[in-house]
Amino acid sequence: MSADTPAGTTAGATSDALIRFDNVTKRFGDNTVLDNLCFSVRPGKHVTLIGPSGSGKTTILRLLMTLESPDEGTITVNGNKLFPADEKERREARKKIGMVFQQFNLFPNMTVLRNLTEAPVRVLGLSKDEAEVRAKELLELVGLADRCDAKPTQLSGGQQQRVAIARALAMRPQVLLLDEVTSALDPELVAGVLDLLRDIARTTDITMLCVTHEMNFARDISDDVLMFDAGKVIESGPPEKIFSDPEHERTREFLGAVL
Ligand code: ADP
Repeated sequence: MSADTPAGTTAGATSDALIRFDNVTKRFGDNTVLDNLCFSVRPGKHVTLIGPSGSGKTTILRLLMTLESPDEGTITVNGNKLFPADEKERREARKKIGMVFQQFNLFPNMTVLRNLTEAPVRVLGLSKDEAEVRAKELLELVGLADRCDAKPTQLSGGQQQRVAIARALAMRPQVLLLDEVTSALDPELVAGVLDLLRDIARTTDITMLCVTHEMNFARDISDDVLMFDAGKVIESGPPEKIFSDPEHERTREFLGAVL
């Protein structure tokens, strides 16, 4: 890493990147949502995407989950092509990535335990017993070891989001994508979920890409912050720089409105 690039990201190409977007353009109709976007994230780094609503942040996470496809450009994860790629290569890249959504997206008809074992059994080929051991360890980690048999609707929003975090980790992803994971929660439940994510950031080597409006959380966990506007990164750097001494007028305006 050269001395003048931020700790976790770089605007150019690096060989040691875990996630790479090269000249990615995404349009919905005539709305160009991502405009020739280039950035990369090094392994183990925690990177937060900030910027006004509609600037393309969630679309980046959805591309990484292959829930959307780019119109142009290349996306790679750990050297595996995600786009453009054949189905086999894309599946390999995709296995490295877990995502936690704003609305939890748990399987409503399955127990908490089954929510955690389903994909490891189906996708990774774990035995049911292996998957259950892993699931119980993770439920312990998120403080819900005693709720294995509950259905999601029997849990609070904060508990459901903890299950969703455990479910993502059950796939042992190299990359965890977090999409405004506290915005659907009652205010009193937000801190617990953010503390859990702080612990995961501190105690694991998982790479995190995070969209959040929780600026204190972003400041705590991020190695780097990327400020988006109209589908481009207009400024990036360590949180102490972006939050305290931003260079771009647009960043100052945005932070003035949210801080
Ligand atoms: P952010 O996360 O920064 O708020 P998004 O990535 O969610 O931004 O959205 C960027 C733009 O793309 C917005 O203008 C949004 O309306 C548009 N958009 C997102 N998904 C779709 C879709 N499936 N169809 C049409 N437009 C979409």
